[in-house]
Amino acid sequence: MSDLVFLTEPEPPRGEAFAIAAGIRRLVAPNPGPMTYHGTNTYLIEGIGGTTVLDPGPDNAAHVAAILAAAGNVARIFLTHGHPDHIGALPALERATGAPVFAHTRGTADGAAIGLWTALHTPGHAADHLCFARADGVVFTGDHVMGFATSVVMPPEGDMAAYITGLRRLLARQDAVFLPGHGPPIDDTRGYTQALLDHRLAREAAIVAALAEHPHTPAALVGRLYPGLDKRLRGAAEASVGAHLIKLAAEGRAESAVGVWRPAAR
Ligand SMILES: [Zn+2]
Repeated sequence: MSDLVFLTEPEPPRGEAFAIAAGIRRLVAPNPGPMTYHGTNTYLIEGIGGTTVLDPGPDNAAHVAAILAAAGNVARIFLTHGHPDHIGALPALERATGAPVFAHTRGTADGAAIGLWTALHTPGHAADHLCFARADGVVFTGDHVMGFATSVVMPPEGDMAAYITGLRRLLARQDAVFLPGHGPPIDDTRGYTQALLDHRLAREAAIVAALAEHPHTPAALVGRLYPGLDKRLRGAAEASVGAHLIKLAAEGRAESAVGVWRPAAR
């Protein structure tokens, strides 16, 4: 069991792209918040034929202008997933560049190779979530694995069983660095992923243990599992508990009636 230690960083530069790995720059969008940390990371990847923009970020004219100023010729656009904080700026960027877009919703399937990058379909946080991996072990992990916090897995789109499968998939790899959708790079790729996995399995075990004591509503489980929770994060916590309950129900380990959960009758 590894401890889950979140990665923090000082507020990054605003409105300017800065080097984060060989040939890769990071541009942090001006949408800070409890779910987005300092803001969404837009990455600019140098390559033959121009720059690949990974995750245009939120719908914000200043951010689009900063991308265009820093990127030069945009050869293509990668999307990790279709949430507004990642694709809000896509229409403006597509209009300005005419660059082709690679996303699960636009036909980029698991295992697809685009230049040096391979798409990995990693649903859980979002049904359409892709990571993009390079053979040298650089992986863009989007909101599947982030350093600053755990990923929100919010049903009905969020799928805890798929998310855990996706963590195990990354764990089986030997990657050098994860570049996430929010927050700083993650260097200890396997240790951190193992800690995320342990964290989810521990929470699942805590839910199973609570239900074994007496039936609980999801809200009561949140109160028990997340003491002292920031009120702004309560909705996400309830969604996460709900995602665990759906997984347990699918596995025949829990059941509900009129919103109250108990161990499944065997
Ligand atoms: Zn995000």
